Amino acid sequence: MKKRKTYFPQGRAWIELDTQALCQNVTALGALLPEGVTLMPVLKADAYGHGAVLIAKMLNSMGIRAFCVACITEGIELRKHGIKGEILILGYTHPRQFSLLRRYRLTQTVLDHAYALELNRYGRKLAVHVAIDTGMHRLGERAEHRELIRQIFAMKNLEIQGAYTHLCADDTADPEAVSFTGKQAKTFSAVMNHLKRQGYCDVKTHLLASYGVLNYPQLAGDYARVGIALYGVRSSLADLDASAPCLRPVLSLKARITSVKTLFPGESAGYGLCFTAERQIRIATCAIGYADGLPRSLSCGAGSVLINGCRATIIGRICMDQTTVDVTDIPHVSAGGTAIIIGRWRKEEITVYELADKAGTITNEILSRLGERLERVVKD
Ligand SMILES: *Cc1c(COP(=O)(O)O)cnc(C)c1O
Repeated sequence: MKKRKTYFPQGRAWIELDTQALCQNVTALGALLPEGVTLMPVLKADAYGHGAVLIAKMLNSMGIRAFCVACITEGIELRKHGIKGEILILGYTHPRQFSLLRRYRLTQTVLDHAYALELNRYGRKLAVHVAIDTGMHRLGERAEHRELIRQIFAMKNLEIQGAYTHLCADDTADPEAVSFTGKQAKTFSAVMNHLKRQGYCDVKTHLLASYGVLNYPQLAGDYARVGIALYGVRSSLADLDASAPCLRPVLSLKARITSVKTLFPGESAGYGLCFTAERQIRIATCAIGYADGLPRSLSCGAGSVLINGCRATIIGRICMDQTTVDVTDIPHVSAGGTAIIIGRWRKEEITVYELADKAGTITNEILSRLGERLERVVKD
């Protein structure tokens, strides 16, 4: 694509995507799984904030041809940008949008028996995967409702290509969780065997998300729906163990330093006067705020950014579009420089785990809330 001369995505605040890291994660996760299992990357929530179209294009060019999204608009967005392969919608689509499923060649999840009736009533063939509820009790027809499930498979307008379930306690070695996961897997395979006996044989299956792949690779069916791990992180640092494969974060988050000034003793910075200088300090304003997804709970000393390889503490309250940091002890800070919010500068690193931990949440939430206003730049 020809870019205009004025195109400069690093002007204000931006995300950098590391192609090599993504490629390495694809390989590492694929290597954990038995032969023949297809990775089905999950691109919901703008690919966990990374930028769904860019990530999908990168994956398409690595040969990946199956994806999951949360909703129909996400699927349409990918198709409009020429993304090839199967796109499975994991969530609800309103009946008034069913025609779009066909127009954009999207595969819909059958959420339960009642929803199957709605899909079937549309009157034309729709490609679907059937969700089976084996214990999470969010989506899926209950596994024990064998007859209702059989009825779904017999509906004449449903072109059933797959069936899946979702594990809800696959992220810990806690014995109760391990036993629950085993039960979920067993329940799912019993349902699939029952269907096979009814003559429904060429149905692809899947049950593993990221933690499933990391902790129970042997349970994989035909696909593995990898989200967070593909982006090179886990939900929290506590989940890292030494035997785990090497996953590299795909995303860095950076912002321009827009202004540097001296603050004299007794002066305050930011809304609500919540930070007051006790001595003379230097402060820098960065062009990123909570509207970009930087959690406001990192205000007033809780969080920091990296400038010239040094940590600069966030002072005052994070604003919607701007954040002020203390750069007193950092040499050579000037407007036009770069602040790293998530990422590495030589040996120093601020990880998304650190942000998530300080904000009292998981990495998935930090990443998926990164704002649309951020530019996204692919690094080879
Ligand atoms: C979000 C989601 C995934 C991906 O989960 P990760 O833990 O990020 O890998 C897989 N399957 C379903 C049904 C999901 O909703």
